[in-house]
Amino acid sequence: MQLALTYLQHINHNMSIFDRLLSVIAPYECLGCRTEGSLLCDSCNHQLPVIPPRCYRCRKVSPQALTCRPCRSSSRLYSVRVATIYTGLAKDVVWNLKFHGAQAVTKQMAKRMFRNIDPDVSYVIVPVPTASSRIRRRGYDQAVLLARELAKLSGQPLVNCLKRTNQSHQVGARRSQRLAQLKGAFRVVRVGSIHNANILLIDDVVTTGSTLESAATLLRRSGARRVEALVFAQP
Ligand SMILES: [Zn+2]
Ligand SMILES: [Zn+2]
Repeated sequence: MQLALTYLQHINHNMSIFDRLLSVIAPYECLGCRTEGSLLCDSCNHQLPVIPPRCYRCRKVSPQALTCRPCRSSSRLYSVRVATIYTGLAKDVVWNLKFHGAQAVTKQMAKRMFRNIDPDVSYVIVPVPTASSRIRRRGYDQAVLLARELAKLSGQPLVNCLKRTNQSHQVGARRSQRLAQLKGAFRVVRVGSIHNANILLIDDVVTTGSTLESAATLLRRSGARRVEALVFAQP
């Protein structure tokens, strides 16, 4: 069985079909309560801890998760909204998404993130692309999947305009090394579609924010009016 599954995963490039197939052969159980159906059931999703609106950098309380005034001098992000804390169940969910091909759970994660979207603002939704070597290993980019779901839920357009320029990744790298790696990590395509736009960057987890900042700097330089971010979890 395991062999057959591995084989299927290997040959099937359309991962959403594979995911559906897998859910028939071996249905997911909720990581929180073991209910069958999804890795994160509606009830457990609802019970994930809420992060009070805060500045993502200094963690001080800030309305609508705006980057606070002192932090704004060194940030290009207008706000970073975070759906939940990267711990316990949320951490398990992200781990399964990254390392166990559990891409169907992005639907549930996006549902949760959608609660943090400002319904009065028109956004262009932009996923923060994962390093391409990781996508090749995994077969999908979780930020793109999350962004797709959020575009569906919000009715806002998705523009996949950020591309990775290199394949360096951050595991084990020190902060100074990471920042150096990030210089020039992205390039922008389809510049016309982001001109004067409010960008909503989508990612699964934010830690230091250096990736988001690097993307925001480039997008602002490329003509975006404002760059906000919406992520599933932060430690
Ligand atoms: Zn559950
Ligand atoms: Zn701050």
